[in-house]
Amino acid sequence: MPAGRPAGLPKQAPDRELKALLQEIDPHRVETIVRRLAGFGTRHTLSSQDDPVRGVGAARDWIYEQFQAYAATSGGRMTVELQSYIQPPASRIPEPTRITNVVATLRGTGEPGRIYVVTGHYDSRASDVMDATSDAPGADDDASGVAAVLEVARVMATREVQATVIFAAVAGEEQGLYGSDHLAQQLKGAGADVQAMFSNDIVGTGNSHDGTAADPRTVRLFVEGVPTAETPAQTSTRQSVGGENDGASRQLGRFVQDVAANPQTGMDVRVVWRRDRYLRGSDHISFLLRGYPAARFTEPRENFAHEHQNVRVENGVQYGDLVEFCDFRYIARVARVNAAALWSLAQAPGTPKGVVIDTTQLTNATTLRWQPSTAPDIEGYEVLWRETTAAQWERVLVVGNVTTTTVDVSKDNVFFGVRAVDRDGHRSPVAAPVPG
Ligand SMILES: [Zn+2]
Repeated sequence: MPAGRPAGLPKQAPDRELKALLQEIDPHRVETIVRRLAGFGTRHTLSSQDDPVRGVGAARDWIYEQFQAYAATSGGRMTVELQSYIQPPASRIPEPTRITNVVATLRGTGEPGRIYVVTGHYDSRASDVMDATSDAPGADDDASGVAAVLEVARVMATREVQATVIFAAVAGEEQGLYGSDHLAQQLKGAGADVQAMFSNDIVGTGNSHDGTAADPRTVRLFVEGVPTAETPAQTSTRQSVGGENDGASRQLGRFVQDVAANPQTGMDVRVVWRRDRYLRGSDHISFLLRGYPAARFTEPRENFAHEHQNVRVENGVQYGDLVEFCDFRYIARVARVNAAALWSLAQAPGTPKGVVIDTTQLTNATTLRWQPSTAPDIEGYEVLWRETTAAQWERVLVVGNVTTTTVDVSKDNVFFGVRAVDRDGHRSPVAAPVPG
């Protein structure tokens, strides 16, 4: 195969500021957050919204205060809001119910219109999904995810980022993804350019407490293949020339492995090529439905006695989603993976847009073109390709600051992609071309 650096592409190492940021992520703060959230007794969506001690409203207000404290360190770049609406009666919602996301937005200083979103859900549940009164500590599901989001928000708040990052503790997940659906719809309705979204849901431990070996250095990342929001025309193209593995979420999975699985996070990212686990779903689906690239972080092996269960002991087995089963150092490492991914996304140029593979004539060369990046510090572009049967990019060719290039490799035999690079070496996710 002519041209291009060979297989085994080097990973993008964290820059100096990212290394410093990762070291600031604090397992003790994670522990405080998880214990505090579990301490609200239940955070069920139908629990009290105005009791200051117990219920989803108390949790909402406490999370809001934390974000406000981080925003106070941001030089005005971070703003915090309670994003709320009244959900009419629907599945698992028996009466009109206020659903409130707690949202902190760190405005980008270079390209504020380019947006990345990270969520954990702060509601919880007991065995009966309609039970709003029993204890439902939800330590792993999903105080752990909220803790990761809060901790990343805290360490990023003090720093300038190129693109905008939205940190959200979303509500109503257990009743049917209501909060994230509202958040995604608000963004879609505003025409927001959301280039990636991560849900952190059940990221509490690498130890499933079921007698199997712990796996404390692995987090799973679920990424769909064929896009949930694919149009009939896109389906037709895919059936013609392939690309099942080249949707924007799959490219996001490759990107996270590239920038966030390294000694500085202390984690391996086990990418799973499916939208979510069997019988389960999370808030990333709300974004996939709107055509936004999205993925879900979750721990490597779950213990289903510790999720969606009333707290009780039965036949000597402890059921319930208790703080004692969480590993705060593990959650901190997951937060580092998120921070590495979000920082690397926000500081890099955006994913190239309008990438087209020229199909106007039959030829054994490949001509690609794309729209110029709007990043103020754009250095240029790289063309990548791989065998059609390969999972990861195998070749990369630096093509300079151009918007079209021709490579002497047949488009019939490989898959191509394009990414943007800035002057500091930050690389964007890869965009797969469409025929045109
Ligand atoms: Zn959950």
